[in-house]
Amino acid sequence: MLKVSGIEVFYGDLQVLWDVSFEVRDKEILVLVGANGAGKSTTLKTISGLIKPRKGTIEFDGIRLDQLPPDQVIGKGVVHVPEARRLFREMSVEENLIMGSLAPEARKKRTQTMEWVYELFPRMKERRKQATGTLSGGEQQMCAIGRGLMALPKIMMFDEPSLGLSPILVQEVFEIAKRINKEGVTVLLVEQNVRQTLTMCDRAYVLENGRVVLEGTGKSLMDNPHVKEAYLGI
Ligand code: ATP
Repeated sequence: MLKVSGIEVFYGDLQVLWDVSFEVRDKEILVLVGANGAGKSTTLKTISGLIKPRKGTIEFDGIRLDQLPPDQVIGKGVVHVPEARRLFREMSVEENLIMGSLAPEARKKRTQTMEWVYELFPRMKERRKQATGTLSGGEQQMCAIGRGLMALPKIMMFDEPSLGLSPILVQEVFEIAKRINKEGVTVLLVEQNVRQTLTMCDRAYVLENGRVVLEGTGKSLMDNPHVKEAYLGI
């Protein structure tokens, strides 16, 4: 469904991704795990069109994404829930959700999609008039996910949704990702939280210093000696 082939990405003269290739299959939960600074956020930003790769290609359903601007990438159904939520803090939950549905197709279905988001997140319905800056961390994460859903994703990319959340909320956010996947949305999840994500995913890739070093099913990577030592502390 999504095919990233040999991308090389730079910030100015600084290269941060080297020949990164991976694919995400239709309807699966794919995880990209790696430590701080491994290049996970950069990979998602490159897929979203926020950064252009110097080399390599990105294809989604057979269409080249790597030369498209971010709004057109979203229009193809490739939606990014960024790290640290990036909500409009002064605006209400509902206003933030509306901001997620500005593309023509999403705009047409806005009312119906908002009902679906409120069904998934009853808490968001209760808080729909509240400024998002006053929500708890977990609620802000739900709102950010809800805003992404408003864009009608075929694939939803989550950038470290567990960041800064308590263990119970982390569990809840991963359950939400699974639910969204069950509703037919392919999930690409980027995480430092290796143990929990390898348990819940179909497949995973390990990114180290801007390079893909391992790939496999979540289970096979849990059993991999390097993963055990470097990420699981066993
Ligand atoms: P984190 O979990 O800390 O976000 P990450 O795996 O997502 O880590 P990236 O944020 O993609 O890693 O960063 C990869 C490398 O690129 C790091 O060395 C980082 O310092 C560098 N980097 C990220 N953003 C920029 C930028 N805007 N300008 C220069 N270097 C950057």
